Amino acid sequence: MRVLIAGGGIGGLSAALALIRKGCEVEVYEQASELKEVGAGLQLSPNGTHVLYALGVGEELRALSCETEGKEIRIWNTGECWKLFDLGAVAIERYGYPYLTVYRPDVLAVLERAVRRERPDAIRLNAKAVGFSQDEGQVTLQLEGGATARGDVLIGADGVHSRVRQALFGPDRPKFTGIIAWRGVIPMERLPRHMVRMVGTNWVGPGGHVVHYPLRAGAVMNFVYALERSDWQIESWSARGTQDELANDVVGWHEDVQTLVRNIPAPFKWALMVRPPMERWSVGRVTLLGDACHSMLPFLGQGANSAIEDGLILARALTEVESDIASRLLRYENARRDRTRRAVEGSADNIHRFHNKVLADPVKAREHVSREWAGQPIADRYEWIFRYDATTVEI
Ligand SMILES: Cc1cc2nc3c(=O)[nH]c(=O)nc-3n(C[C@H](O)[C@H](O)[C@H](O)COP(=O)(O)OP(=O)(O)OC[C@H]3O[C@@H](n4cnc5c(N)ncnc54)[C@H](O)[C@@H]3O)c2cc1C
Repeated sequence: MRVLIAGGGIGGLSAALALIRKGCEVEVYEQASELKEVGAGLQLSPNGTHVLYALGVGEELRALSCETEGKEIRIWNTGECWKLFDLGAVAIERYGYPYLTVYRPDVLAVLERAVRRERPDAIRLNAKAVGFSQDEGQVTLQLEGGATARGDVLIGADGVHSRVRQALFGPDRPKFTGIIAWRGVIPMERLPRHMVRMVGTNWVGPGGHVVHYPLRAGAVMNFVYALERSDWQIESWSARGTQDELANDVVGWHEDVQTLVRNIPAPFKWALMVRPPMERWSVGRVTLLGDACHSMLPFLGQGANSAIEDGLILARALTEVESDIASRLLRYENARRDRTRRAVEGSADNIHRFHNKVLADPVKAREHVSREWAGQPIADRYEWIFRYDATTVEI
């Protein structure tokens, strides 16, 4: 089977590797001139690392990442702190696979190397998908500049602004959440000793929250600050902000947060949009994967994990189900729709836990954290995610 993939991001390359491992001929068409991710962090939970281990790249990635010992939750201004959950060895014991905090370019580099080891010419760069046509026997991908490629299946793994999705289902109607996310990475040597810890921290506040965790064996700290602000609405990984603007947005926050902000060499900002979950992802020989069909707010840390799961399950559906292509794609879609919808909704549902007006009052803040961020509520929100096994789930 010859499979064309539009988009060489984490989802597209995971799918490519899974398909190659299952004996398919694969070509990835990536619009960029080199495969590169933004210099930011990513949390890969055991459900995602399980897939990466199944694809044979788990250890390579683990060597480049950080196995954070655990996560904690802190109040935005007082700094009061609670343990959220243990990770590290506990995650492996509980879920069988590690919880890794990784540098995005490292994930992409590991996947790219693995794909090229199997098929050196599988990835075509400077290749922007602009449309496609399909008939009974084939699908033809159209690239910018007039070139075409033919295959049995086309996968749109072309991210949140997916051209393939728009060609299948029409124009996009994203809705701005009123929240922007500041991002940055901080060289660890710039931070004071008490902040150099292999722990992930979620700071919760009245109109925003900060998440930071170590990357690259503790060489850098990743920083994300989501805050309610409606004067800026561009959904982009490359839009830069300024130090002053960011500093202004953290007035009143704890000194540790101020320290992080002061040490970010280049802050970036991203406007968080939501798209309603889609009922269908496939038409005939064409389907979607990852952010192209279920982009979600980054408040459960599952966008990339879901794209990785999609890749393996799509490869399984295409190679394990005995039927015509359209039916195999339907089986993939049916196997994934409810879980990804739950992740989309769960991410949005987390807004009021991370940001809540009651957090302005330290006493009410304590009550809020004890209610929302302890014991059973945490298990209810995360266990179903971490325990998922994409290698065996029914398709
Ligand atoms: C601030 C922030 C923090 C996040 N943190 C996490 C986290 O901790 N854990 C997690 O799991 N998820 C996280 N996410 C979500 C995660 O980044 C995405 O879900 C993930 O990158 C989706 O992968 P993808 O491969 O579907 O799309 P993308 O990563 O967007 O890749 C799409 C690729 O397609 C290419 N492309 C686009 N259009 C075309 C075209 N027409 N032709 C050819 N190529 C094309 C692009 O250049 C790109 O390489 C976060 C998101 C944000 C905004």
